[in-house]
Amino acid sequence: MKFEKFHIQPEIIRSLKKLNFKKPTDIQYKAIPAILKGEDVMAIAQTGTGKTAAFAIPIIDMIQEKKSSKRSEGLRCVVMVPTHELAIQIKEVFEEIGQHTHVKTFAIFGGVEQDRQIQKLQAGLDVLIATPGRLFDLVSQKHLDLRKVEMLVLDEADHMLDLGFYKDIQDLLRFLPRKRQTLFFSATINEKIKKLAYSLVKNAIRIQISPKNPVAKNIDHALIYVEMDEKRFVLERILREHEKSKMLVFVRTKVRAERVMKAMDRVGIKALTLHGDKDQKDRMAVMRTFQKGEIRLLIATDVSARGIDISGIAYVINYDLPEQAENYVHRVGRTGRGREKGQALSFCSEHEKELLLKIEDFLGHRIKVLEYGEEDQLVTKDMSLDATQDWRAVMQEIEQEDKKRKKRKKR
Ligand code: ADP
Ligand code: MG
Repeated sequence: MKFEKFHIQPEIIRSLKKLNFKKPTDIQYKAIPAILKGEDVMAIAQTGTGKTAAFAIPIIDMIQEKKSSKRSEGLRCVVMVPTHELAIQIKEVFEEIGQHTHVKTFAIFGGVEQDRQIQKLQAGLDVLIATPGRLFDLVSQKHLDLRKVEMLVLDEADHMLDLGFYKDIQDLLRFLPRKRQTLFFSATINEKIKKLAYSLVKNAIRIQISPKNPVAKNIDHALIYVEMDEKRFVLERILREHEKSKMLVFVRTKVRAERVMKAMDRVGIKALTLHGDKDQKDRMAVMRTFQKGEIRLLIATDVSARGIDISGIAYVINYDLPEQAENYVHRVGRTGRGREKGQALSFCSEHEKELLLKIEDFLGHRIKVLEYGEEDQLVTKDMSLDATQDWRAVMQEIEQEDKKRKKRKKR
């Protein structure tokens, strides 16, 4: 099937051609007609399957149609997202798809000055992509009027309705018209959140693509059992064995991110880190450097696990297993985007086995285990350029050799 079949504006078809989107993905095929009809939609589809365009295409189409008959004015659509990075990325998708239309999109988020954002808001906008906190601030200070909003999208919906964001969202809903179209998009969802989402809308249609396995099918994912103090050597080995690949490594904490970066630096491998301690400017700079491929290794905490679409990440490593089971899906989902294939490998140490069970429970199946025995461990250590590795053992070995030699001489 072709995009033309949706009867969307020719300006949009033109930009989809430019983007080289030949045909709709499954989720686009199912969600676009329902959204165009004005339905509330809850769409659950795996990572990297084109959910952004699944809502951006019909939204741009509806706004463009009304704009050309001059029936519309004021902010029409709000897309809520969890992070600054995702806000910018989604704004870019709207701009690309809407490049031949009159639809104007802007993104706002916390951590940067408000004033420049406020100026932009006054310039007249159709679509606003926002993180909830900053959106709430601007609305409550009356810099922004949401009364004409007709469409509300929650991307990464399960996360947006979870504890950290739910209150902000609740507060914001008071400023939005009751009569509106609400769209939920995510790769993961649980029963509790699903109920909560349905309570916010009327008769939402549920569209779900391959619910059985939340991990996208073009991701080959596996795990190895490896102890904590061995992890850095294994990572170093993988990096040496895949010298050209872009890799994203997830760790549990900011401190560990910095530590792993230093360990890699000691063996001559340059890496960047991304975590909540960095300010927004730094985070953006890191993303750009990694995106361009100037540095091929990014060590991150879960802050950037959701939604980010960087092409060419060949490998995701879970250096530490995620504490939130669904984050496994979001982390490995940074590879295998669109039609690309991807690989993911998780390191599981003895005391992460409980986390592993929780993850497997969430996935509904076991994760493939790759054999990693004593011999592999030796090879791994052999390959390491880390001079400090196990120097005590090395010293002992030398001492023992010395003693043996002396004994032999005496005889
Ligand atoms: P999701 O939100 O489902 O994780 P994204 O919306 O970020 O996925 O899209 C993943 C990738 O797929 C993007 O790089 C996007 O450009 C690409 N993509 C989306 N729709 C199509 C399509 N119809 N044909 C080809 N590529 C597409
Ligand atoms: Mg997405």
